[in-house]
Amino acid sequence: MMEKATFGTFNMIESHGHEQVVYCSHKESGLKAIIGIHSTTLGPALGGCRMWNYANGEDALLDVLRLSKGMTYKAAIAGLNVGGGKAVIIGDNRTQKSEALFRAFGRFVEGLSGRYITAEDVGTSVKDMEYVMMETRNVTGIPIELGGSGDPSPVTAYGVYMGMKACAKEVYGSDSLEGKKVVIQGAGGHVGNHLCGYLHKEGVKLFVSDIYEDKLKHLVEDYKAEVIGVDDVYGFDADIFSPAALGSVINDETIPQLKVKIVAGAANNQLKDEDKHASILRERGILYAPDYVINSGGLINVHSELEGYNRDRALKKTSEIFDVMTNIIEISKKENKTTDIAAREIAIKRVESVSNSKKIRIYRDKNLFNMRNI
Ligand code: NAD
Repeated sequence: MMEKATFGTFNMIESHGHEQVVYCSHKESGLKAIIGIHSTTLGPALGGCRMWNYANGEDALLDVLRLSKGMTYKAAIAGLNVGGGKAVIIGDNRTQKSEALFRAFGRFVEGLSGRYITAEDVGTSVKDMEYVMMETRNVTGIPIELGGSGDPSPVTAYGVYMGMKACAKEVYGSDSLEGKKVVIQGAGGHVGNHLCGYLHKEGVKLFVSDIYEDKLKHLVEDYKAEVIGVDDVYGFDADIFSPAALGSVINDETIPQLKVKIVAGAANNQLKDEDKHASILRERGILYAPDYVINSGGLINVHSELEGYNRDRALKKTSEIFDVMTNIIEISKKENKTTDIAAREIAIKRVESVSNSKKIRIYRDKNLFNMRNI
């Protein structure tokens, strides 16, 4: 008997409120990708392209839906003139990358006529974006030599550091992190690495973890960081927990283990269930820095590429994360709500105030060329 067709995919897309979802398949290069355009109200949807070995297409779809929605909030709260989008490529980022694969992806991006602008993300690199650029100009995070902004991770880390300081000011009465114990999950990665640098400079005692322990060696040598086990990060007796690996790490199993006063990290979608887990953290007296607020430095950096890249301007704008986070904490206290809801409301309010029509806007290439200033 023939299997019944279901509308599960449409339901998933509708429940996340997306404008458009594009499935990209190119047999010759092995490309299987999904592009999620959540909102173009504020501008073209800008967001990175993740390459990950998803177990199935549903997991990949859910990831791209959540990530692209997060990008809408991130851009809105950072005050940028871009919307929210993201892409995922299904595959092993250690063994399945090729020029043909990224060029095929680039052609799909080009087909969206500037409604979506891509960049690097987990599992993809600046080099991969060079291949994408062979097919489309709607790509950021390209090498500095090619007029781009290069790896966004150092700027992301700087923003996380600023957000962490704002949280410390609330919890400890001073934004100084000197002497604080900070646990970093995924410390061997791009952002984790740079974050360790900023924190070490301020006299933080670092506790680092990564599934690839060899990536932590220089942190031990250069910053006197202490390595802790992958499963020990949640229950570790420290002041701040900073997730810098993958999402959904704040959940029913991990929250009861937490001994820290602050959760502030770079990883996207840290809360497995936004409302539920933000509330439980609040009830337990743990201050949560919404991920899309404090990790927006990377987006600010690639966005700055569209205007003609200037690193100082990107860093200055990123330093404003301190004030944005302070404001969110104030609202959450005054209005008795979680920091996550307070932040989301600010983002949604901005998007709604700009959206004076329900029509989807079309961003033609020429607009992007003007924005890029090249
Ligand atoms: P990355 O791939 O360079 O680093 C992630 C690190 O986490 C890797 O070293 C990996 O081995 C490690 N890891 C994976 N699973 C782990 C686990 N269970 N326990 C411990 N370590 C684990 O990625 P990145 O660019 O540093 O990004 C880290 C996070 O920050 C991601 O969630 C990403 O979406 C988010 N983010 C990154 C940027 C950026 O500029 N790179 C910007 C915004 C958000």
